[in-house]
Amino acid sequence: MRRPCVAGNWKMHKTLEESLHLVDSIKPDLDEIKSVDNVICPPFTALAGVKELLEGTRISLGAQNLFWEEQGAYTGEISPLMLAELVSYVIIGHSERRAYFQDSDEAVNKKVKAALAAGLKPILCVGETLEENEAGRTGEVVQRQLTSGLKGLGEKDLGEMMIAYEPVWAIGTGKAATPDGANQVIKTHIRDALASLISPEIAQKMRILYGGSVKPENARDFFQQPDIDGALVGGASLKAEAFVEITKAAAG
Ligand code: PEP
Repeated sequence: MRRPCVAGNWKMHKTLEESLHLVDSIKPDLDEIKSVDNVICPPFTALAGVKELLEGTRISLGAQNLFWEEQGAYTGEISPLMLAELVSYVIIGHSERRAYFQDSDEAVNKKVKAALAAGLKPILCVGETLEENEAGRTGEVVQRQLTSGLKGLGEKDLGEMMIAYEPVWAIGTGKAATPDGANQVIKTHIRDALASLISPEIAQKMRILYGGSVKPENARDFFQQPDIDGALVGGASLKAEAFVEITKAAAG
């Protein structure tokens, strides 16, 4: 059985002070929900402060991006080694990074490898745009992103990594995918693809999350799907009550 996971992607929201306040207000409730893993991904500037607040809790900390080099003249970038002191997870290949910061499939693959080499657990995001969806290209796009994101990696690398299926048209739009539709994509184009690409054991072991307008009202329907192991939550992770409710839904 795969343990459900609910992760929060705070994107470019919350100052340090606001981040600490939000963590303070979700911490006691999340700590009670022992059957679900939680990961929160605040902005870089809040990671050190939030790490202190999370000590002794069961909530894990994640970053939203990284650069693949260990150190060097890369102004403005953050290395895997720097993150390894602070977080356990890192989101890689989020569609906003792919769209606004030109994170190519190749760059995503370098980031995944660098994260794993530093002992971080990547949350690799894949998902098609509206145009690709309407052109019937969902499977092709998702499998291309998955295959290139995992290029050069084997069974021993992947056990603790997670994949998030996030259709771009569902992110921040309020228009979530249907639970059954998301499950179909995850089953066919991610889990079955992982079985051929890596191994059937890894495909059964790896947690695959759905992301895109998940909220308390629809979360349960996603979590009831057999291949959806949790959610990557954007907007609703910024509201304490909503994030706690979604986590409760994952507990069943
Ligand atoms: C996200 O940014 O990963 C996301 C899923 O956003 P939202 O929940 O706001 O659609």
